Amino acid sequence: MTEQPMIPAAKPLIGEDERAAVDRVLRSGMVAQGPEVAAFEGEFGAQLVGGRACVAVNSGTSGLHLGLLACGIGAGDEVVVPSFTFAATANAVALTGATPVFADISPDTFNLDPESVRAALTDRTAAVMPVHLYGHPADMDALRAVTAEHGIQLFEDAAQAHGATYHGKPVGRFGSFAMFSLYPTKNMTSGEGGMVACADEEIARGVRLLRNQGMEKQYANEVIGLNNRMTDIHAAIGRVQLTKVGAWTEARQDNARWLDEHLGQVDGVVVPTVREGCTHVYHQYTVRIDGATGEQRDEVVTALREEHRVGCGVYYPTPNHELVSLARFAPAGELPETARAAAEVISLPVHPSLTPGDLERVATAVQAVVGAGA
Ligand SMILES: *Cc1c(COP(=O)(O)O)cnc(C)c1O
Repeated sequence: MTEQPMIPAAKPLIGEDERAAVDRVLRSGMVAQGPEVAAFEGEFGAQLVGGRACVAVNSGTSGLHLGLLACGIGAGDEVVVPSFTFAATANAVALTGATPVFADISPDTFNLDPESVRAALTDRTAAVMPVHLYGHPADMDALRAVTAEHGIQLFEDAAQAHGATYHGKPVGRFGSFAMFSLYPTKNMTSGEGGMVACADEEIARGVRLLRNQGMEKQYANEVIGLNNRMTDIHAAIGRVQLTKVGAWTEARQDNARWLDEHLGQVDGVVVPTVREGCTHVYHQYTVRIDGATGEQRDEVVTALREEHRVGCGVYYPTPNHELVSLARFAPAGELPETARAAAEVISLPVHPSLTPGDLERVATAVQAVVGAGA
């Protein structure tokens, strides 16, 4: 077993087409934000979010930050977010001066629990921002019912969910804005980058101003802004990836189906749920080691990696409200499902370059390590 090569947990696919696209931009001599970015925004909007106005920025985190600012979020506001996510979600809220308020998750999808959101509302709540974690849509009907009832905004952290659908409609079309990350390990990449899909032209204009020092016309600054522009080099990579992401998603879904079949019967392993009416794009294929403590789960990860050479990850071992950086926003009560998920989850390889032999090795390794009661 130890002679086998490591199966990587994630593998960005950058090919000849991406290299040629970068070369084309470099040869043009115009590398900063320009026509490639504009084309990428139009193509991304048409392909993934039903023609919504899209604005490209230099990272997903910038996308969240600027989306929140463009929607008027700032000091004095509270935004309800999950604690079981990457810290960027709450970081972006806190950086606007607003307060992230952490709610618990539903155990089946790992996504924001609408009842917990309801319990977290105060008269300062300005918005709710679910994350479509691992590529499975959050419960948008229930969340929209909550935000509509209270007259507050709904945003989407769709960093991990390019192309996922909820009752036939793609994620990224529900919130006032939605952010997609284009980091290399995400379902598609531009090197680094983010895309903000906006509900209307006014929000899109706000994001465009904020990413460019508050300028539409040069040196006629209208608002205080940043430089969060995407370069044409990155946009050229993203445009090529956009032509491939559909096939990659299908490969992820095929891999997930195979893993479901081969791991669904393993004692102590809970495979991912796909809710009725949803499609899952498997940014991660995340199983639970049912009833494990964080320590027991970590032993499984070590055995998978070291004995079986199966790369895997834990997303995320520490709830946001327990991080040193965000602990001051910890809720008064417990978030029991967040705590349980943080202890139990392991994400197994599901990326499109896995071979049938790799999948066999993943299943055999999990059966050996967890089935053996590690
Ligand atoms: C990756 C990610 C982000 C941040 O995106 P970057 O492009 O890395 O800045 C935000 N939220 C979630 C849930 C993510 O997975």
